[in-house]
Amino acid sequence: MKQTTTATVLADNTANVPTTLVSYLQRLKALDETSASVSDKVHSEVETFVLRALETTKTNQTTGKDDDNNINNKKRKLNDVDEQDDDDSDEESRKKKKELLEERIDKSVKLCLEIADEKCALAARAYDLVDEHITKLDKDLRVFEDEARNNTNANPKNKPNAQGGQNDKKKDQVGSPYYVNEADPNEPTYCYCKRVSFGEMVGCENDKCKIEWFHFSCVGLDPTVKLKGKWYCKECKLNMKLKKK
Ligand SMILES: [Zn+2]
Ligand SMILES: [Zn+2]
Repeated sequence: MKQTTTATVLADNTANVPTTLVSYLQRLKALDETSASVSDKVHSEVETFVLRALETTKTNQTTGKDDDNNINNKKRKLNDVDEQDDDDSDEESRKKKKELLEERIDKSVKLCLEIADEKCALAARAYDLVDEHITKLDKDLRVFEDEARNNTNANPKNKPNAQGGQNDKKKDQVGSPYYVNEADPNEPTYCYCKRVSFGEMVGCENDKCKIEWFHFSCVGLDPTVKLKGKWYCKECKLNMKLKKK
């Protein structure tokens, strides 16, 4: 049947979507964790940087005061030459440390930006994947619906849930076409009541029957009791009796 093919194609086309999507989302989650830790690192690095800068400012201020104070300045020069050397190397190592820290912060920030870019790209890819498949699914579903509708209109006598087909010829007609919409205005009607098919339906064994399919309830049959022998509708029964006479 054509419907089955369309449905199979639908299922096949969408089968690997969840897997791909899950792999994207897992990568996104991993990136999220990495970027969170890198961002934490940047914060602590910047904190250290600011603290050190503040310390340097304090020392400079103290040094400035010392410079202003001639007595202290002279004292320093007189008392300890080694200390002066130490101060110089201290300043240099501090400068080096500052530069290293700056470099590290720069690297971390760049890494953060790279991760953010990859995350954006992944999100866009995931979106495209879903979008593409939704568009395709919509298209396939429209084809599927059209096929189902055409099939229903072409074979109005193929009724589901029919029990009346004791005759072999009739049994072949008992199919189960797929009904997309129960409220379809094009759906054929049956029975004396001229309503659409629902529940158990019984078929009249007369090939020339004008109605052919009937609701169990409309012809007074119990759907829980299996039909025995051939069943004919009122009209056909009457016609058969008249013919015999
Ligand atoms: Zn009826
Ligand atoms: Zn009949």
